Amino acid sequence: MDGFELNFEVLKRWDKDYIWHPFTQMLEWMKEDIIIITEGEGNYLVDINGNRYLDGVSSLWVNIHGHRRKEIDEAIKNQIDRISHSTLLGLSNIPSILLAKKLVQITPPSLDKVFYSDNGSTAVEIALKISFQYWQNLGHIAKKKFISLNNAYHGDTIGAVSVGGIDLFHRIYNPLLFPSYRIPSPYCYRCEFDFNYPSCNLACTDPLEDILSKNAEEIAGIIVEPIVQAAGGIIISPPGYLRKIYEISRKYNIIFIADEVATGFGRTGKMFACDHENIDPDIMVISKGITAGYLPLAATLTTNEIYNAFLGQYEEFKTFFHGHSYTGNPLACTAALANIEIFESEEVIKKIQEKISLLEKLLKNFQELEHVGDIRQKGLIAGIELVKNKENKEPYPIGERKGHRVILEARKKGVILRPLGNVIVIMPPLSISNDELNYLMDVVYHSIKKVTES
Ligand code: PLP
Repeated sequence: MDGFELNFEVLKRWDKDYIWHPFTQMLEWMKEDIIIITEGEGNYLVDINGNRYLDGVSSLWVNIHGHRRKEIDEAIKNQIDRISHSTLLGLSNIPSILLAKKLVQITPPSLDKVFYSDNGSTAVEIALKISFQYWQNLGHIAKKKFISLNNAYHGDTIGAVSVGGIDLFHRIYNPLLFPSYRIPSPYCYRCEFDFNYPSCNLACTDPLEDILSKNAEEIAGIIVEPIVQAAGGIIISPPGYLRKIYEISRKYNIIFIADEVATGFGRTGKMFACDHENIDPDIMVISKGITAGYLPLAATLTTNEIYNAFLGQYEEFKTFFHGHSYTGNPLACTAALANIEIFESEEVIKKIQEKISLLEKLLKNFQELEHVGDIRQKGLIAGIELVKNKENKEPYPIGERKGHRVILEARKKGVILRPLGNVIVIMPPLSISNDELNYLMDVVYHSIKKVTES
């Protein structure tokens, strides 16, 4: 290899010389010891030096059944022997056809059609463009705006950032964004109105009614992360919240977009978060867990009603002029089919209920920690919010990097995590065993204690 021995030191130098890492202050990265992953084994990652780490955030919320699942590996290998990629522009392929049919079966009954792309952000972008064009095609040309939530995260492309609500990530891009309406986040721990649930009567939904009662004629749709605002800090909406904003949206006949990129594929304890409150969205966006964490794939599902508004003679230009080079990639669709097959044959959703209860029990211990302000859980997703002062909920200054320090501590004990500011995120593969879950939470507990109490 150019006269170099390909060892850890060489690769570490090349990483720092050549890679610009996502969501990373590179000046900090340059000073840190890095981990180079070479293998996966079940729920563990193995680094170049042979160290094993429990994958506590599912390789950024994507892995579902563990790494190197035989059935998925083999399905992909078999597909490679046929073809790795052909386009969906003007052609079709078998895995994308079979997967589309399957996705329509497993998602809420309102959804009938599947538009593929390759990551969550583009799938959101597609949802926004379809919503906008739907109204244009029907002649409602004033309907151009979207409603989204404070603390929302829908991805990093400009459209997705336009409906984002995380100041830290999004503020700098303001001059590039299209205007949209914001409604409060259902963040009960830091309620924007200082109310308590349930006596609040879900007052945080009132602004939606208010905006729509005055401006519905210019609003195309609303985009929501159902039940869990994930990247905003694992903010879990109280029971009834999702249903209420869905019903208000229905009343004013706007498109309801459910962004299930993070919540889809079992993470919240049901196949989709919408299933918790019987939501029939007009559009659903899925990615991450769709291929069980194997390959990049996303899908934007729509109702027939929306799809039909795009039908017409070519010269009417109702066509959805959008597509990506890897749209409907056969390898990724094959991985997704194998993923769903495991969900069905192993009754994964049924099996994880016990682990969800175990996680709930383990999280109770965290209440006694001096700097744990709030503990939020839905299914196998949890967020532990660290605060400087538990009494008045004063947050740690972001520059103290408390969350980051906790995950570095956990790493010493063989656990990989990635925080969201002061929130420690727990999102293991659904295949995590009870023993592994016990270990994971024990390491998180002691890492928080060490960083915040010593
Ligand atoms: N939507 C939600 C709810 C997400 O959590 C994410 C990523 O975390 C995205 C969209 C963007 O997905 P991607 O990172 O694949 O572009």
